[in-house]
Amino acid sequence: MSKRLDWIQEELEALKQAGLYNRIRTIGSAQGAWLVVDGKRVLNFCSNNYLGLANHPQMVRAAQEILNVYGVGPAAVRTIAGTLELHLELERRLARFKNVEAAITFQSGFMANLAAIPALVGKEDVIYSDELNHASIIDACRLSGATIVRYNHVNPDALDEAIRQNKGKYRRGLAVTDGVFSMDGDIAPLDKIYEVTSQHEVMLMVDDAHGEGVLGRGGRGIVDHFDLHGKVDVEVGTFSKAFGVVGGAVAGSPLIVEWLRQRGRPFLFSSAATPADVAACIAALDILENSTELVDKLWANANYFKSEMRRLGFDTGLSVTPITPIMLGEAPLAQQFSRELFEEGVFAMALGFPTVPRGKARIRVMISAAHSQEDLQKGLEIFARVGKKLGVIH
Ligand SMILES: *Cc1c(COP(=O)(O)O)cnc(C)c1O
Repeated sequence: MSKRLDWIQEELEALKQAGLYNRIRTIGSAQGAWLVVDGKRVLNFCSNNYLGLANHPQMVRAAQEILNVYGVGPAAVRTIAGTLELHLELERRLARFKNVEAAITFQSGFMANLAAIPALVGKEDVIYSDELNHASIIDACRLSGATIVRYNHVNPDALDEAIRQNKGKYRRGLAVTDGVFSMDGDIAPLDKIYEVTSQHEVMLMVDDAHGEGVLGRGGRGIVDHFDLHGKVDVEVGTFSKAFGVVGGAVAGSPLIVEWLRQRGRPFLFSSAATPADVAACIAALDILENSTELVDKLWANANYFKSEMRRLGFDTGLSVTPITPIMLGEAPLAQQFSRELFEEGVFAMALGFPTVPRGKARIRVMISAAHSQEDLQKGLEIFARVGKKLGVIH
């Protein structure tokens, strides 16, 4: 018997020993405030379905109707025969919604980062990257071949210092940061970061995956939140979170958008987004442009849940967004907490090292506009019960 794959078995065993093996739960229902998870009906605090759009009737109908016109598959990459009128409509609509000049869409947010970063910088260049940036930014930075300089989390002074130290050593510079950080729910100080990058003539990119549909007026994102229209070169967004579908985008400078149509490799070499997904994204924009009701409800729910959790005695960390970490300390406690919640009918994820630093394990609650007041009440009661049982609160 060949031994050439034995190493995989050993690595998998090592993951299990270290408590890092992913046991993946399966969902047996549509997304919403309640889910069937591994056959059990539970209150959902895990999804990125911030606005409850993942199963919104208007979006489902838009997808169904377009299937009859364009069919199911794009059958080509965007640059050969895959660009439908529908894709251009989504790009125009997104740019209008975000109040920027241009936008280009991709198959996912991950793809948007993989397209943008290697197209903007290469071996002779430097990237300044927040130390807690998302994996897709890290991979895109590595793929670009540029020198990567990490700066202290959400610290514009550290960014300034890093740029000064590297002045004159490279052809071009790009500063890149998450907008909302998904583990803590904190926000990059984009206004201050912009002051630094504009002073040094460094390009600025923000990945607003968790801010799209959440931050800014009516969910217009982090650039709108800080009123930096026309100033941030690249704003990456995703249609996979608040928008409830799947897909990614770059919004901002028309010059960069044109460049990515020529040089964004996932745009050139991976098939276009499907008609149904694109139609659903356009319907999401219709909903968001029509009313701020869902975004308002998301924030009301998040503020209520967070303040009640604090009142109960839980530590909700640094969060200023609907991402609500419940800080617990050690990973085994977080895992036990998550299991006990599930037994009681609440689905909330435990996060430990290496996803978050050692000693900072937590449960992460994702609040949604889909939650009713009763849902939140029920969640709070169960959190209080489990918290007391495990000695986290008194
Ligand atoms: C989720 C996320 C992505 C990936 O988005 P997808 O559309 O799911 O590929 C990229 N960047 C950040 C910061 C994210 O949180």
